[in-house]
Amino acid sequence: MDFQGFRTVVIGAGIGGLAVARALALRGAQVTVLEQATGIREVGAGLQVSPNGLAVLRGLGLKSAIEATGAVRATAVSLHNFCGAPVVRLDLARHAPGQGYYFCHRADLIAVLAEGARRAGARLRLLHKVDRVLPGEVPEVVTCNGARVRADLVIGADGLHSRLRPALNGEARPGFTRQVAWRAVVPQEGMAEPEVRLFMGPGRHVVTYPLRDGRLRNIVAVEEQRQWTGEGWSQRGEPRALSQAFAGFGPEVRGLLDRVTEVHRWGLFRHPVARNWTGPGTALLGDAAHPTLPFMAQGANLALEDAWVLAAALAHAPDVGTGLSDYATARRDRAVRVVDAASRNAWKYHLSFPPLRAAGQAAMRLGGRLAPA
Ligand code: FAD
Repeated sequence: MDFQGFRTVVIGAGIGGLAVARALALRGAQVTVLEQATGIREVGAGLQVSPNGLAVLRGLGLKSAIEATGAVRATAVSLHNFCGAPVVRLDLARHAPGQGYYFCHRADLIAVLAEGARRAGARLRLLHKVDRVLPGEVPEVVTCNGARVRADLVIGADGLHSRLRPALNGEARPGFTRQVAWRAVVPQEGMAEPEVRLFMGPGRHVVTYPLRDGRLRNIVAVEEQRQWTGEGWSQRGEPRALSQAFAGFGPEVRGLLDRVTEVHRWGLFRHPVARNWTGPGTALLGDAAHPTLPFMAQGANLALEDAWVLAAALAHAPDVGTGLSDYATARRDRAVRVVDAASRNAWKYHLSFPPLRAAGQAAMRLGGRLAPA
């Protein structure tokens, strides 16, 4: 396909939206990104970028920019139970030698992608909340302040509460997993462990890893809870309540949680992967198509993959319709597999009955990527 004069509107300046904006702008498309927020920024938290995501960043010419932000290269993960005994050791780089596996600050990844999109010629328009999309041969986007934008292609990269997804699929009914995640970032200073640590206990677990040249430490703590309302990442929590929830863990976790001064809480929901990823002149990408639980750390990596494959599928197709259909065919089964695998991981971390716990840990070792510590 020839991208000269090809008008693309991307809804959402998140990880997937900015990546596809750069990928298409580099090929010559006229790209406009509509973002509801007042600025391109992220609340502080970490993100694991695995070899698949890194391959996309390399393809977009942004891998060295990510490395320059102080992304920490991971070599191995130890898994501990809540009293501190090692369970298994995971060699993160084993299946992709030379590719790397990084821990980034989300704000750094967003900043690198936004700069990359701008430099490639994409226009980023803030304070443009999209109200609805009218699919068609020349699809139209209507913003909440009444502006109407027509394009040759509209990409819904607008995350969990996508406006395009229901237009293509109807409303979905997410199911609460009875798990709630706390997330925080603390200074690393004075702490010994530079690696990823996963502490598992009955009904709860804590994952922690270093960020920004090891100056910060990211914490995600997950506990079971019966009820939750309102899905989203920005609800504030109480540091004292976090410490109390994990008071039964060992001194390493308790010491870490005592450093938390600001924390967000996030109810975890299961969503079906969208059945229809594309419609006339429209495509879904990232969380808009396949929100995933965080237990494989793959949501952002999948969004990067989608961005790359969508741009490549369009480039190799004779027309937009064929490109969109090739994109959906290439991506849907993979997304379903990863989303299912992340859902299956949830139960392994929280087992309370000792024989089941031993069986779960054995299953983790046999999972193909895990070796005993
Ligand atoms: P988002 O990042 O959600 O971006 C959507 C954008 O669209 C936002 O900027 C939003 O403001 C904008 N938007 C929404 N609606 C509108 C509208 N109507 N009009 C205009 N703009 C709109 N993934 C990993 O790969 N590795 C990890 O280690 C990892 N850890 C995680 C830890 C936590 C605590 C969380 C919460 C998630 C984690 N994820 C991880 C998942 C990952 O962050 C998401 O899957 C990823 O951000 C999805 O990217 P996206 O671009 O699809 O959507």
